Amino acid sequence: MDFSNGDKKFPRKRKYGYSKTCTKCGETKRVKDNFFNKYNSPDGYEASCKICFLKKNKRWSDKNKERHSELNASWYQRNKEQHLLNSQQVYEANKSRKLLDYYRREERTRIATPKWVSKSDLLKVYKQAEQISLKTGVPHEVDHIIPLQHKLICGLNVPNNLQVITREMNRKKANKWKDRENRSKKTD
Ligand SMILES: [Zn+2]
Repeated sequence: MDFSNGDKKFPRKRKYGYSKTCTKCGETKRVKDNFFNKYNSPDGYEASCKICFLKKNKRWSDKNKERHSELNASWYQRNKEQHLLNSQQVYEANKSRKLLDYYRREERTRIATPKWVSKSDLLKVYKQAEQISLKTGVPHEVDHIIPLQHKLICGLNVPNNLQVITREMNRKKANKWKDRENRSKKTD
């Protein structure tokens, strides 16, 4: 189902953060994430919130199963080519982006690994992370204490710079370093 109407010609300029009350559930919510766009309505949004709107659609399609599948089938027939093309493009874009990320990471790690480092010492840390994950059921990852590639600082891929932390911590840490990088950009 396509709920967008191309984001064009809304009757009135909508304010960012503008809230409205759903006519179905009576809750007041911010329009930005909670209401579908609707061309031809005074404020450019549906009267009911997304949840109520979808519930209504679901009730209708449950009651009219045959008609619903007919409509779906005819939509698919009309949009088959475009639909396949879109999914193909999304897939290809993701695939090449992922591959590129992977090679970048590999290259970064290769450059940051001094010749004197023994591979088995590094592997030990990765095995440790794997074992802790298995034992605790909480995903753990190997983290570079000082990041390998950063605008401000460059760590090495050596055992002393490795630690095993939870995946959650690792993500948080990555964001923290990103923040620092952004802050340093501003002060430049
Ligand atoms: Zn509602």
